[in-house]
Amino acid sequence: MTSEQTRRDFMRKGLAILVSAAIPAFAQSEEPTSQPGKKVVVLDPGHGMGNRKKGVYDPGAVHEKIYEEKIVLDQSKRVGKILAQKGYDIISTRTDSETETPLSSRPILANQQNADIFVSLHCNAFTNPDAKGVRTYHYPDTKQGIKLARQVQDSLVEELTANIPGFEQKYNGLKTANFHVLKHTNMPAVLVESGFLTNERDRKYLTQNPEIVAEGIDKGIIKYLEEE
Ligand SMILES: [Zn+2]
Repeated sequence: MTSEQTRRDFMRKGLAILVSAAIPAFAQSEEPTSQPGKKVVVLDPGHGMGNRKKGVYDPGAVHEKIYEEKIVLDQSKRVGKILAQKGYDIISTRTDSETETPLSSRPILANQQNADIFVSLHCNAFTNPDAKGVRTYHYPDTKQGIKLARQVQDSLVEELTANIPGFEQKYNGLKTANFHVLKHTNMPAVLVESGFLTNERDRKYLTQNPEIVAEGIDKGIIKYLEEE
């Protein structure tokens, strides 16, 4: 990306600098650890211990005994492994279910590490079991964020369509949201909802074909980074 575009995206997010500076506990303790010249990807598996409240485990969406938190943690490891093999620097906001990881700490980590992009991983759930498919969120009017979101959304849908029998997505899953992790990150940031745990078809590929989901997300990320 050009620094000018990043700067403009950043300005649109407005408060990010102020908010990061106001939380010194996370903001000032560490120097960036990434290697010079390598692009840095921060992966953010959603939920986990202390996400919303200190000491309280947040499983995310739960369907029967399937926890969103566990699904996206596994996704994050798979996505990170492929990206690392391709030569990118990978930083994860959490790597287990037990370590305290407040929501507020996640964008701060990415900002500290001067990440090139931030990708938050989630699964959806809804009262109507027919709701299904992939959705990718970006912060409003962030040119690079929209571009990254489109690449990830399209690549994941393409990968699922090619490899999961019966998968088709008829709607455009690109969405706008002012989620905390999208708003307070200084770099292009997206949040991927890779399917609905409450839908039978989606639940099946989320639990049985995690390698296909990871491959799709990776293809989108790599496409974006290679074009920048
Ligand atoms: Zn979630």
